[in-house]
Amino acid sequence: MARFIFITGGVVSSLGKGIASAALGALLQARGYSVRLRKLDPYLNVDPGTMNPFQHGEVFVTDDGAETDLDLGHYERFTGVAASQADNVTSGRIYQHIIQKERRGDYLGATVQVIPHVTDEIKSFILSDSEQHDFVLCEIGGTVGDIEGLPFFEAIRQLSYELPRGSSAFVHLTLLPFIDTAGELKTKPTQHSVKELRSIGIQPDVLLCRSDRPIPPDERRKIALFCNVHADAVIQALDAENIYQVPLSYHAEGFDRAVLDVFGLGEERQPDLSRWDEIVHRVLEPEGEVRIAVVGKYTGLKDAYKSLGEALAHGGIANNVRVATEWIEAEIFEEEGALPRLEDVHGILVPGGFGQRGSEGMITATQFARTRELPFFGICFGMQLAVVEAVRNLLGRTDATSTEFGEADDPAIGLMTEWMSEEGLQARNMNGDLGGTMRLGSYTAHLRPGSRISEIYGSLEINERHRHRYEVNSQYRSLLEQHGVIISGTSPDELLPEVLEIPSHPWFFGVQFHPELKSKPFEPHPLFASFVDAALTQSRLV
Ligand code: GLN
Repeated sequence: MARFIFITGGVVSSLGKGIASAALGALLQARGYSVRLRKLDPYLNVDPGTMNPFQHGEVFVTDDGAETDLDLGHYERFTGVAASQADNVTSGRIYQHIIQKERRGDYLGATVQVIPHVTDEIKSFILSDSEQHDFVLCEIGGTVGDIEGLPFFEAIRQLSYELPRGSSAFVHLTLLPFIDTAGELKTKPTQHSVKELRSIGIQPDVLLCRSDRPIPPDERRKIALFCNVHADAVIQALDAENIYQVPLSYHAEGFDRAVLDVFGLGEERQPDLSRWDEIVHRVLEPEGEVRIAVVGKYTGLKDAYKSLGEALAHGGIANNVRVATEWIEAEIFEEEGALPRLEDVHGILVPGGFGQRGSEGMITATQFARTRELPFFGICFGMQLAVVEAVRNLLGRTDATSTEFGEADDPAIGLMTEWMSEEGLQARNMNGDLGGTMRLGSYTAHLRPGSRISEIYGSLEINERHRHRYEVNSQYRSLLEQHGVIISGTSPDELLPEVLEIPSHPWFFGVQFHPELKSKPFEPHPLFASFVDAALTQSRLV
């Protein structure tokens, strides 16, 4: 039977609970344990798919088509274990399920309540499909004390009591702020946060204390004493220069050991951390640098492009260089005089996005990359706009557009009304629901023999994750080909364009899928490795 580790947070949000959970998963794996990571989000949205990336950051899409919290991306990148729909749940989904059951009459007349019905639903989510793993790590979103989080805390409290003794552990992440005027790290917020946890019946076993400087031994003893935690389970979690240092640095502080001690397994196995040593070495000691401009519309919040930033970094790891990413708001290219900002970059990437705002700026940046022979990578929306750019400027149809921006007679990009999935024919229309109705998750694409994309992948068949509602209008395919823009990848039935490339350009690709979602530090995605390589070649030209 699996052992369960519950990870909660206190004091403030944004302490890196997701990375800490992912790092713990990686450290347990390094000792040969199998892990599964799950995220429980207390908000009422059914999933984050309808949430503004500006507020909530990126939506991470799994192979099975779930739109999930971006922490699942960290989990996958650190452990290599593919996340699924069954690894992220929200209050919204729990309530949706309960209300459906109530309407069906499944509760046989009972009063449906938070305890036991909501908590039971949460517990069954945590326990489902857990048997085959050594450890299941469950991160609870938000911080202790949030009203909406209470049913989740109650559910994990009940579980730790119901599971066999010694098969669960609580890790609590807190902050030790440094107060300048006192010249001290303060432990009081941590004490209060643990008091809050204990008031709802949860005694943490391990405290992971985020701090921007070393924690003096006296302060550690104080935290241990007042929080009722062993002194060697008060772990100092210092800020890291790079997230991939986190597993090594938390390990050096005894984090995984302290967690395993709770299960009586601290001495059992030694970890093999060589792959993390290698990644950190490559990240911290690159042999060069390339500059990539990401021209998008949510560039004000880095979390909105979390996986993309990581995949670019992985492309750097593959080439032993640092990728310096310039996040540029696309709208600036809608005014005269902004293009010089792109003069000294070595590659341009137009990422996924929704809605018209900024699209003209992206098209201008794409035209710049195409005509100046700069490496160009268009992802999803970025591919669609590369088609609009080509139809306008190569085919001379200056009014080319996407129906995402309003009705059009002869759109270059149109609403995808039908497509095949494993479940059969999927159909959508203009007035349908927005949530969860896109072409989501992993789909197979076939690559054209002899194309550059097939060389990059080393394969004629690929599986990549999708999240889109619109598609390239196939009617333009042969016209585009006549102008040197070829569709070199399609859905297996050849109806949906998946990849576009310009063979005469040094590196110009558009892909309808999101390759960034599958890239890992120890397995950089071939397209990102190739893009950074092309940028490196470009950097040597200038
Ligand atoms: N807005 C576009 C669509 O829905 C692109 C989506 C995306 O970039 N993920 O098709």
